[in-house]
Amino acid sequence: MLKGNLMIAGRISVVRWKYILIAALLCLAMAMPLHAEEAEDEVKIGNNAATQVDKESKFITDPVLVQRVQAIGKAVADVANTKEVPAAYGSSKVAKFNYSFKILDDKEINAFSLPGGHVYINKGLLDYVQSDDELAGVMAHEVAHAAHHHAMHLIKTQQQQMLGVGVAVLASILAGAKGGDMAGIAYMANLINIAKMSDYGKEAEFDADRTAVAFMAGTKYNPVGMLTFMERLARDEIRKPEVNYGIFANHPPSRLRASAILKEVKALGLPINRRLVTKYVKVEVKSVKLESGESLSEVWVGDTKIVRLADIGKTKSLDRADELADRLGDLLDAGAGMKDVRMGPGGTSVILMGTTFYTPTADDAALAGQSISKLADSVAKALQMVFHKEKIQSL
Ligand SMILES: [Zn+2]
Repeated sequence: MLKGNLMIAGRISVVRWKYILIAALLCLAMAMPLHAEEAEDEVKIGNNAATQVDKESKFITDPVLVQRVQAIGKAVADVANTKEVPAAYGSSKVAKFNYSFKILDDKEINAFSLPGGHVYINKGLLDYVQSDDELAGVMAHEVAHAAHHHAMHLIKTQQQQMLGVGVAVLASILAGAKGGDMAGIAYMANLINIAKMSDYGKEAEFDADRTAVAFMAGTKYNPVGMLTFMERLARDEIRKPEVNYGIFANHPPSRLRASAILKEVKALGLPINRRLVTKYVKVEVKSVKLESGESLSEVWVGDTKIVRLADIGKTKSLDRADELADRLGDLLDAGAGMKDVRMGPGGTSVILMGTTFYTPTADDAALAGQSISKLADSVAKALQMVFHKEKIQSL
């Protein structure tokens, strides 16, 4: 199974590099030197490659999705076009690219960008992200590749080798081979290139991740989204090897990338609250009808029941449940975790993040058929169960 996945990953890298190589070859074919008028060449190379991709691809045109991707893309691109972020790979020189963002009709979890700011997002990736923040993270990564001129850097450093390949392909084209063969030859050339360039690949990926966090910090999107996205990829890579994770192609292990991103986000001084940017389980109030016909309310988190609340005088069970659910939602949003659950004095209340979260009443205890301290204890245990389940999910 792993072998199958590696083969898929290999194919994707080849496809991506094919575009860059084809663009480089087109330049050679047009006798356009790569070193002169560099910025102009970069845009031309990108445009040529994009034309090729556009010709070969099917796009998603659903206006809701297109609008979502373009709005996020524009926010990131505006920062990339103005903010200089030091490059650990490529060049940090700010180029005001006319960024474009398109959605490919492809189930694979992948995205890529071409020189000059042509960014492509697969539909599979849109289905995989759990928030706009996560999507913005992936898009910022792709924008960073273009903004830091990664492909140009690679083409320049490998120019000697490219020229050799170029001559071979040109000779083959001149000898009468039709366009269809070019991809085949480029494919082979890329297999060699990928093997030789894997080191540059890793540096470029780490630089794109780091730069993406810096770009996101200039938008309304939460850079923690990049972290949760990478953590989930790392987890699913192991759990669901049958899924195509194109985004891993030519990339360093996602676990390493996730820990590098975590460091960057922490360096920004941002709180690491994963719940805000993912589909973590939500707090809910559920109503239950007792045999007596009486209706009571319970607070749940996902599939874990926290507590059933009794009516107290004029205060109805539902009002108490709503109030408790709101408080729990706020505490979860504030980043409450396993270590924040404590018992209050005498074990008769539950403390969460240093504040009293819940004190069982005698009626609540009677409803549960437990003593007050026993009920407090089971509420604390239910909260711990919620955090435990989340932990398992995010591993
Ligand atoms: Zn990348």
